[in-house]
Amino acid sequence: MACLRYVITFALACISVAGGGPAKAQAPGKLPVVATFSILADFARNVGGDRIAVIALVGPNGDTHVYQPKPADAKELGDARLILENGLGLEGWIDRLINASGTKAPVIVATNGISPQPMREEGRIAQDPHAWQSIANAKIYVANIRDALIAADPGGASVYRANAENYLGKLDALEKDVTAAIAKIPPARRQIITTHDAFGYFGTAYGFRFIAPEGVSTETEASARDVAKIIRQIKTENIPAVFLENVTDPRLVKNIATESGAKVGGTLYSDALSPPDGPGATYIEMMRNNIKQLSAALID
Ligand code: ZN
Repeated sequence: MACLRYVITFALACISVAGGGPAKAQAPGKLPVVATFSILADFARNVGGDRIAVIALVGPNGDTHVYQPKPADAKELGDARLILENGLGLEGWIDRLINASGTKAPVIVATNGISPQPMREEGRIAQDPHAWQSIANAKIYVANIRDALIAADPGGASVYRANAENYLGKLDALEKDVTAAIAKIPPARRQIITTHDAFGYFGTAYGFRFIAPEGVSTETEASARDVAKIIRQIKTENIPAVFLENVTDPRLVKNIATESGAKVGGTLYSDALSPPDGPGATYIEMMRNNIKQLSAALID
């Protein structure tokens, strides 16, 4: 256990460095918008276009579950005209930060209207926050963000409507491509291991089974018993591959692969985008990267 605890602590230390500080939301003449993490910021950028200046508090490859806000974040919220959060328990730190900032900006929960999936977490039922992993849900996020931008900046209503329409069309195309790609993976091979339980909505939407040693939050440590159980499960059910995630330490999953004989697939983008030069710099690129990695590992 001491070893596992070390692995997780090390992961968090790496991530807080990789997450970095936010860029400034202020730009002359643009609506300052703050999103809690990179995927929400990308949705907002697609709908807001040139009329808004959006920043993400938790940047590329950052872990939103365990983020520790900085004093500069309160200043960003104080200057914001619109604040976007995921909700469903993803950002346990946001309410305190909003209160501390004294902001008067509206706070929009982008998952409003989405049916939350329940997850078992440390023996109790919790809501799974990773709703963006279903493209159908992503469209609800986009509609909520469009309506929030129109309310915050009515003069831009026609621009926000047109941008949202255009982006929703791209999400339709993405959904078709993902569904077609998964249809080529044999159903018996549509089960994989990831570090934390981030793909519940993806699994439900596209017929995949994801198994994870950590719970829906990266705050939950994997127990030695859970890891041993997963290794046995991989062997008895012939689970073909394990996958790394961009927001978690790779060593736990690599150890599981070594012990079980499963192959290591690529890196899936679960809770954050990649930096601009990476393979998942936008939500659409992130989903296309994930399906490419899954297909490469699971189709013989
Ligand atoms: Zn997560």
